[in-house]
Amino acid sequence: MADATPLRPLPAAEATWDRTADVVVAGYGIAGVCAAIEAARAGSRVLILERTSGWGGAAALAGGFIYLGGGTPLQKALGFEDSPENMEKFMLAALGPGADEDKIADYCRGSVEHYEWLVANGVPFKAEFWGEPGWEPPHDEGLMYSGGENAAPFNTVAEPAPRGHVPQMSNKRTGSKGGGYMLMKPLAETAEKLGVTAEYDVRIQRLIVDGDRVVGVVAKQYGKELDIRAEHGVVLATGSFAYHDRMIEGFAPRLIGRPGAAIEEHDGIAIRVAQALGADLAHMDATEVAFFGDPQMMARGILVNGRGQRYVPEDTYPGRIGQLTLFHQENQAYLIIGEAAYEQSLTTETSTPFFRQPPTWAAETIAELESDMGLPELALQSTVELYNKHAVDGKDPLLGKKQEWTKPLEGPFAAFDMRGFTAGFTLGGLRTDLDSRVLHVSGEPIPGLFAAGRCTSGVCAGGYASGTSLGDGSFYGRRAGIAAAKN
Ligand SMILES: Cc1cc2nc3c(=O)[nH]c(=O)nc-3n(C[C@H](O)[C@H](O)[C@H](O)COP(=O)(O)OP(=O)(O)OC[C@H]3O[C@@H](n4cnc5c(N)ncnc54)[C@H](O)[C@@H]3O)c2cc1C
Repeated sequence: MADATPLRPLPAAEATWDRTADVVVAGYGIAGVCAAIEAARAGSRVLILERTSGWGGAAALAGGFIYLGGGTPLQKALGFEDSPENMEKFMLAALGPGADEDKIADYCRGSVEHYEWLVANGVPFKAEFWGEPGWEPPHDEGLMYSGGENAAPFNTVAEPAPRGHVPQMSNKRTGSKGGGYMLMKPLAETAEKLGVTAEYDVRIQRLIVDGDRVVGVVAKQYGKELDIRAEHGVVLATGSFAYHDRMIEGFAPRLIGRPGAAIEEHDGIAIRVAQALGADLAHMDATEVAFFGDPQMMARGILVNGRGQRYVPEDTYPGRIGQLTLFHQENQAYLIIGEAAYEQSLTTETSTPFFRQPPTWAAETIAELESDMGLPELALQSTVELYNKHAVDGKDPLLGKKQEWTKPLEGPFAAFDMRGFTAGFTLGGLRTDLDSRVLHVSGEPIPGLFAAGRCTSGVCAGGYASGTSLGDGSFYGRRAGIAAAKN
């Protein structure tokens, strides 16, 4: 079905200019605000066009992890050693296959400066580390492992260092009131102080071109079409395509019917309007995948697939568990845990209490549990026998779960049905260079067009670590603002 709105660029000769700015930024989320700040500091008149009635986007709802490292002052204050080279090793191993090596090297080298920039622009980080398994720190702790850096197999590839930096915020509620708000708020205030203008309830629909060059956007506000001129450049920062059904079917079909950690405004518009100009794309099949499990419980049990076999070290980043489950186990997972371990997990703190549901099955023996779950005889029994044989010595030679979590399963037992417990957002998008210029399929930059955030392909090409979206969105948002202002 054709799109209801025309996506082809409008020739400048046909435009009737309603507004003018030097740099026009589409989208007032994390990439947009960072682009706006840097463009304004470089002396440009900046206009942000935002589809909703306020700033924030998905970023303001987010948990707030920003993936930073290489020896940030926060890492140092908490006693963690890291270097750009060590961070790069991890990111190349964990975020591929096919990760953009230049972008990752650039991102790691610039990470400490980026941390300092965020702090200088008012983003608060509390010097406290949260070391328990979890999706996010349950309180206002500022640092946590957020990508499986300290779990197999990555703990053998690079020296483990926590890089999930979380802006300080009290009374958080995961999924609705997270640290992302305390990232966006100071940045939006900074933008305002710098004289950035924002217009709300304005939805960009297509680009305006003068020959090959992008010189503005067509947008709609309250049913009225506006032609907005950008003297220096347009920055696209409207988020992912998680909510564009046809794009999901075409590019990332494993996410059909399961968008998550995104907002409905993420409809791929930036990608489509730039494609209409010949923009190149990258890693359109890459997706983040959340798994609706409580990490404190998972670390104390074993996760098995639809055939009763283990497939992931249960103490790793839960987003990795999600990806491995959805991509490689047909979205089939069960958590098996002993009663005492389950009860112990319930005494721990978690940011995701809503994932602590009662078990689906309970039984005195694994043989009974296996039968109740409808698994073939010995499928689960052999898995538990193998696991327990080595767990007695705190070892997991099959998958490398760490000693502190590797303990024999002891009955009575419980099993949780976690089939289909995944959702996610897209990571692929416009191919951009290190200055956030949108590249044409020829490899040349499209004059006047810049992009950042989840409408672009950033540091993640396949794997994911929490914080890389707010991380590369803010990092390359800044680059987009600087480059557009200079243009
Ligand atoms: C609950 C939750 C938790 C998350 N936790 C984390 C985390 O801890 N760390 C992390 O890195 N990521 C996290 N994410 C993901 C992260 O928030 C997003 O990937 C990130 O915000 C993308 O940045 P962006 O600038 O591309 O998009 P956004 O921040 O969403 O900004 C895009 C903006 O563009 C606007 N827009 C859309 N279409 C148009 C249009 N046509 N015209 C004008 N404006 C438009 C949108 O309304 C929005 O305001 C989380 C997301 C959610 C929802």
